[in-house]
Amino acid sequence: MNLTPEPLVYGLSSPGRVGVVLPESDVPVAPVPAWLERDSLPLPELDELTTVRHFTRLSQKNFSIDTNFYPLGSCTMKYNPKANEAAAAHPSWRNLHPYAGESMSQGALELVFRLQEILAEIGGFKAVSLQPAAGAHGELAGVFMIRKYHLERGDTRRVKILIPDSAHGTNPASCTMAGLEAVTIPSNAEGGVDLEALKAALGPELAGIMITNPNTLGLFERNIEEICRLVHESGGLVYGDGANMNAVTGVFRPGDAGIDVMHFNLHKTFSTPHGGGGPGVGMVAANATLAEFLPGPLVVKKGDVFALETPPKSIGRMKAFYGNFAVLVRAYAYVRMLGAEGLRRLAENAVLNANYLKVLVEKRWKVKYGRRCMHEFVASGDIAEGVHTLDVAKRLIDYGFHPPTIYFPLIVPEAVMIEPTETESKETLDAFAAVLDRIADEARDNPALLHDAPTTTPIGRLDEVAAARCPVLCYRA
Ligand SMILES: *Cc1c(COP(=O)(O)O)cnc(C)c1O
Repeated sequence: MNLTPEPLVYGLSSPGRVGVVLPESDVPVAPVPAWLERDSLPLPELDELTTVRHFTRLSQKNFSIDTNFYPLGSCTMKYNPKANEAAAAHPSWRNLHPYAGESMSQGALELVFRLQEILAEIGGFKAVSLQPAAGAHGELAGVFMIRKYHLERGDTRRVKILIPDSAHGTNPASCTMAGLEAVTIPSNAEGGVDLEALKAALGPELAGIMITNPNTLGLFERNIEEICRLVHESGGLVYGDGANMNAVTGVFRPGDAGIDVMHFNLHKTFSTPHGGGGPGVGMVAANATLAEFLPGPLVVKKGDVFALETPPKSIGRMKAFYGNFAVLVRAYAYVRMLGAEGLRRLAENAVLNANYLKVLVEKRWKVKYGRRCMHEFVASGDIAEGVHTLDVAKRLIDYGFHPPTIYFPLIVPEAVMIEPTETESKETLDAFAAVLDRIADEARDNPALLHDAPTTTPIGRLDEVAAARCPVLCYRA
């Protein structure tokens, strides 16, 4: 059932109605140049209250972590503490102009410096650049660094980057954008990297590997040290995709395992908002081998003074100024609120929540790689004849839950990737598992309920390909 869409603001327009009344002008009227005048811009004429109601209604159509459970696998949709917002909104940060200059921005530079140090310690790396604006952007920076490292040594043959078949799609995309060649490595029966396939792909053309640990199946890569060793022995470097750091923060330091360069998503692990696609921060960290290639400038401390400095062999800038500074303030507030002990507990609770939910869900749903999971697990949505993952995802919307990530990773048929995060209560996890139980009953007894879903939203089932490829972004009368 498709409910009639809201009357658009244009439909509410009434000629001559206004929202503000300006006082009489007490300065001479300047003529508007003719070339600035046009009739082709019909704007709605509305009073203030109608306008406020329109936009408030629209805002209520948003699904958000502040309203409902959002178990979007690999995306770590955790609660964004409001204390972070208060910190970022402080006038000292908010009003600081990016051109204020180093001497007048010492406080901001100190915050960036401290955050660099804390994140380097968490990851086990030498240096951190907070420039990249997203995980994918950090990946691109990291692959540029690997490429530049080989080119600096005159090793121009190294063009291949190995990528496990469970990797996020941004990995091969970043690699290709950086001008290198992505080579897929299959997973073994356990869901980890197939070491024999890895060995077969090593050689003088190897630039490196991109590896996600824990991987997108929610499994810890047990052979991570062996993988790093093999790649290094073959002359390659190891890129770590740190999107899943929520499972291991304070427990496992990727730098210690041999990873050379890695991004963390501050908008995942460190509780900054994902926003409507941004702004985020996909900071990139490097060990001693690659630190001098980091995108700059970084903040350095010289005596008592904080300054911006670009590493000697830097790949250059990835972003203007300091990156998304207000996001850095939020992440800093978060890590300082939790402290070292709290950061470890967040990871432990993220893993506990995922395993608790997995045990409940596994009673009815298939989980292909069923060993104890980290922060997430991947079930299959083909629960009954003629029912698919997409139907299950849409039906969850009717029950007030955001659908999990679906059809990813590609190596699990009908994948449903569920990540509860540490911020959800036992009651929420129980309620979600109960709804999945009920959907399994519906799939068996009345699959039409799933095929017709969602029915409680303003718009029903969309043609998702058309919505993505040919979006209608403007209202046309
Ligand atoms: C989210 C994610 C990325 C990309 O991060 P963005 O910030 O969305 O660009 C990369 N890899 C994995 C495993 C992810 O979950």
